Amino acid sequence: MNLENQLEELLGKSIDDADKNELYAACLELVKRRSREIPLTQTRKKLYYISAEFLTGKQLGKNLINLGIYDDLSRILKNHGKSMQAVEEHEQEPSLGNGGLGRLAACFLDSVATLNLSGDGIGLRYHFGLFKQEFKDHKQFEIPDAWLSEPSILEKTDVSFPIVFGNRTVYSRMYNLDVIGYHTGRNQLHLFDIDTIDESIVHDGIGFDKKDIEKNLTLFLYPDDSDKDGQLLRIYQQYFMVSNAAQLIIKEQKDQGHDLRKLADYVAIQINDTHPSMVIPELIRLLILEGISFRDAVGIVTNTCAYTNHTILAEALEKWPISYLSEVVPQLMPIIGGLDWGIVCSQHDNPELNIIDKDQRVHMARIDMHYGHSINGVAALHTEILKNQELRHFNSIYPAKFNNKTNGITFRRWILHCNPELTALIDTLIGEHWKQDAYQLQDLQQYFNDYHVLWQLEKVKQHNKERMAKWLHDREGIDIDPESIFDVQVKRMHEYKRQQMNALFIIYEYLRIKDGQKPVHPITVIFGGKAAPAYTMAKHVIHLILCLQELINNDPEVSPWLKVVMIRNYNVAKSEMVIPAADISEQISLASKEASGTGNMKFMLNGAVTLGTADGANVEIKDLVGRENIYIFGRSSDDVIRLYNTNGYHAKEYYDRSQSIRRCIDFITGPELSAIGDINALAALQDNLKNKDWFMTLLDLESYCNVKETMIYDYLNREKWKRMMLVNIAKAGFFSSDRTIEDYNRDIWHLR
Ligand SMILES: *Cc1c(COP(=O)(O)O)cnc(C)c1O
Repeated sequence: MNLENQLEELLGKSIDDADKNELYAACLELVKRRSREIPLTQTRKKLYYISAEFLTGKQLGKNLINLGIYDDLSRILKNHGKSMQAVEEHEQEPSLGNGGLGRLAACFLDSVATLNLSGDGIGLRYHFGLFKQEFKDHKQFEIPDAWLSEPSILEKTDVSFPIVFGNRTVYSRMYNLDVIGYHTGRNQLHLFDIDTIDESIVHDGIGFDKKDIEKNLTLFLYPDDSDKDGQLLRIYQQYFMVSNAAQLIIKEQKDQGHDLRKLADYVAIQINDTHPSMVIPELIRLLILEGISFRDAVGIVTNTCAYTNHTILAEALEKWPISYLSEVVPQLMPIIGGLDWGIVCSQHDNPELNIIDKDQRVHMARIDMHYGHSINGVAALHTEILKNQELRHFNSIYPAKFNNKTNGITFRRWILHCNPELTALIDTLIGEHWKQDAYQLQDLQQYFNDYHVLWQLEKVKQHNKERMAKWLHDREGIDIDPESIFDVQVKRMHEYKRQQMNALFIIYEYLRIKDGQKPVHPITVIFGGKAAPAYTMAKHVIHLILCLQELINNDPEVSPWLKVVMIRNYNVAKSEMVIPAADISEQISLASKEASGTGNMKFMLNGAVTLGTADGANVEIKDLVGRENIYIFGRSSDDVIRLYNTNGYHAKEYYDRSQSIRRCIDFITGPELSAIGDINALAALQDNLKNKDWFMTLLDLESYCNVKETMIYDYLNREKWKRMMLVNIAKAGFFSSDRTIEDYNRDIWHLR
């Protein structure tokens, strides 16, 4: 049956008579049917990618692209006066992730399926996800993100496992989401939940009774852990996730008739950050119940599991008190104790290697590093810092375990879906094969001196800027000038990412305009990102940005030259709108702190030019495009690490020494912003920047402002700028997650 007839059959009426609801439901059903026709990918060995987050983004458009029917379906809808975009809008974005780590997991699932490898994701079915961000009085407020709606993209199954917490047992339920490869096979994402969750216990934003596990277990991703009950809840969630994972893996292996002693021949488990670390003791426990000795089980599990490190920030390296683990998962304590004993009794007498420290806390990453066979960082610089600084003691005993896997992004979502005009232009220039082999984007280099092609590239960017301006106007009632430079910083709010430095640039520019020095071209500074609910300083930064937005956009002297926009509730769908429209990609983390970044890769692929520090994958972007096609500023990671080790950075000295820094910092509590904002919040932020500034904003502020001025000036040199755009796109092939997955498979998983 042709596509049009099939759609009408599913609708039970003609396309002309259907509304967006009905069209969405029919398209969803169409995807489900087509997807069921694709057999699940089978390879001798199977990957299980366990992650607390999968920031999948909306599924419909991506699935239609991967099934190869997006364009046909769009055309059919258009012939009936309907728009595919409007139908896609109707889908609620799954709220199953937080930021880069969760988005990486989603890109990986897409690439594993596309490469015809057998690999499933395992995670949790959070009812309200992280939270939905709202702004009121120039501040962030959190409300539940109720994304689970009917018709659902998730398939409810009868698969259930008993999960034992101390003296009570809950029974899980598995939900599946199909992961369809690009013109290839199919895998699945398994999300676990319990039927007894009670959404009605949530009150006053995102508050709820943290003790009632049967009702609250999967309500939220990363529930507040500022008190003991919150930390216990996180442990409940983590164990629930990994016990389901371990039981599913063992069940599937038994169903296949495989010998559990040969688990490592048939199964690869990737532990995405430390949230799933308890899978190691849990699998050992279950193998012992299958009659395997502790010693053998440890060997089997070690050969099966591999760990990915995503950060050197101490707060993210989880350490749980033994007493908490004993309360939630007493059955794991003998195993964890045995694993620690193995280390204590080994030749190593460095207490930094012990799993259980002197304060009776269990270091989750240390379980992974001792009892997994691979430890990988997520960009070249990050892996070097792990080997030489943060994890040097582990590197000295396990040098062969350490390896780098530079992150990547799926080009199906991050160009084919989000930037159809650029995709079509590239097709006309170099053919379509780059969609299978991203390195072929390099062929674009031949157009370096082709004025017509460079002009076309500029036109695509301009259309995307107009598309975004219209979207902002329609959805948020905010007007921006598509002729201005779109300078974009969208990512989670965190002091190490230094949105506050960008805000200080805005103040710097505002003061210059007030002094009569107009910038050479109008600029729109665009922010988006959520702050963790308990992260006060990140919320203060949001407050500062929203106050600046209010001040500047209502100042007729300044606003023709400078505008500020903070996008509400930044998520994948919004990033797909914003990134294709960006001219400048802000990647300004304190060197050494951003493990990789993946936003930087999305911007590059869509023809934005990076303004960044020599941090994470920015370093690799610089090596690929060359110094002349990127704007790098600020102190090196070596300098920064030395400053930390010697206590050599004192923000106050920078404040005292530089008049222009002082003016910007003083402005935060000056009369203009005090009239708009909360003086206590602004003063707390100012005090932090002046007297603490743990992430060294003032260290790089002046060089940042100078390089940004240069960049705005260079934007006027259109030929130069368009060539930079072209080179960035042409060199982005390395950052396809297909390449990343091939690297993981070659070095760690050995699937096929
Ligand atoms: C890619 C992405 C991120 C990660 O961005 P970074 O700049 O690498 O921190 C976070 N959130 C969303 C919605 C994304 O799409």
